[in-house]
Amino acid sequence: MTTFHDFGLAEPINRAIAQEKYVTPTPIQTDAIPLVCGGRDLIGIAQTGTGKTAAFALPILNRLARDPKSPEKKTCRVLVLSPTRELSGQILDSFRTYGRHLQLSSTLAIGGVSMGRQVRALMNGVDVLVATPGRLLDLIRGNALRLGRVEVLVLDEADRMLDMGFIHDIRAVVAKLPADRQTLLFSATMPREVAALAAQMLREPARVAVTPVASTAERIAQRVIHVERAAKPALLVEVLRAERIERALVFTRTKHGADKVMRGLVKAGIAAEAIHGNKSQNQRERVLKDFRAGRVRTLVATDIAARGIDVDGISHVINYDLPNIAESYVHRIGRTARAGAAGAAISFCDAEEAAFLRDIEKLIRMAIPATDRRDGRAARHPASFHARHSAAAHAEETGFGRGRKRSRRARRATREQYAQLAPASDPGNIGSVAFMRRRDERSRRRAQPASR
Ligand code: AMP
Repeated sequence: MTTFHDFGLAEPINRAIAQEKYVTPTPIQTDAIPLVCGGRDLIGIAQTGTGKTAAFALPILNRLARDPKSPEKKTCRVLVLSPTRELSGQILDSFRTYGRHLQLSSTLAIGGVSMGRQVRALMNGVDVLVATPGRLLDLIRGNALRLGRVEVLVLDEADRMLDMGFIHDIRAVVAKLPADRQTLLFSATMPREVAALAAQMLREPARVAVTPVASTAERIAQRVIHVERAAKPALLVEVLRAERIERALVFTRTKHGADKVMRGLVKAGIAAEAIHGNKSQNQRERVLKDFRAGRVRTLVATDIAARGIDVDGISHVINYDLPNIAESYVHRIGRTARAGAAGAAISFCDAEEAAFLRDIEKLIRMAIPATDRRDGRAARHPASFHARHSAAAHAEETGFGRGRKRSRRARRATREQYAQLAPASDPGNIGSVAFMRRRDERSRRRAQPASR
């Protein structure tokens, strides 16, 4: 089996990998790292959760470590393009984590925040720049950045960037890059438009593909329980009592929520602890020690606090609140089923969270089996079936027509779900992966004219 040492990466990088407690490279890393280290252009077909970020960040850092030089003013040596601010932030974090023992500079160029700081950060040049396409072009037009010194270009989540209508921006950026560069393109899917983009921008690329998140997801028994918000505390107690739990990690969206859930469990006689950003380092360490030792089997955490939790033997991940960022779901459920073990992920979904669930199912490209515990409902169909096919279920989920004020997200969910009613000609098959793929393909085709 390949180990990280087999890649021959620079020692400071191996040290950082060891600190992250990565032992075995993931399949995309095993395939991609030697190719990228060898200077090849690469098409990587992989989704979030497969370890794709390290698959490109590690060999890029290795290149910078082997050939250290100060970047010229207002230039970057490595340019990573990603579709969203969130993903850009995560990619930058990864570069900083794996490159923490190297003397490298890195920064972010994303929209939605003031340009001034980004302009200053680029003034002396940076080794690694992670950017969303629109803001990157603004900086170039504002004379804050030149791309003539880029050695490596990464296009991450290329399919999503095209879906979001970034094709012109990407072309404009690539036109400013030197022809002599290494280009890496990562995409979860390979529709025609992405293949065409790759054909234009990459030189004799190697191609690696890994089974998407589903490979993690398949090992994890996932379930959704549709439930009224007010019934969640009782449902959690019920689930924790009914399941054979070795260790359960319960996720809430807020710190306050984590404390509240923990107190509810303790009151119900279930030993639990909470961990979040307001806890001191000492408290965190004590709680994690108890959790690792099995003295406390249930830990309630927020996403940020959970990042540092590296505990084996988590048999259950429970999403008390669904995350509003779909990728977080993949990170959360990946806490169980580590190192090939089986695990269970149970998500509670209330009416306000229906749109989050849709985003998640789209990302993992599967419909999660669901039961419905809302008042007076039987679980005859997967709840996602109800959500998509019954106007009554819609009204219930979104509050539509009931005089309740509906959130923007709920209104968007209604719009999107109704938009899907039309093409759903095969409701019997709605939960299948094939259906989800066809649906994605249809929406991509519909989106095409807008992005041209
Ligand atoms: P990504 O697909 O890049 O978003 O990575 C998904 C998660 O897997 C991140 O939280 C990484 O920290 C983690 N990860 C990446 N590579 C490895 C590895 N070889 N072993 C364990 N965890 C990893």
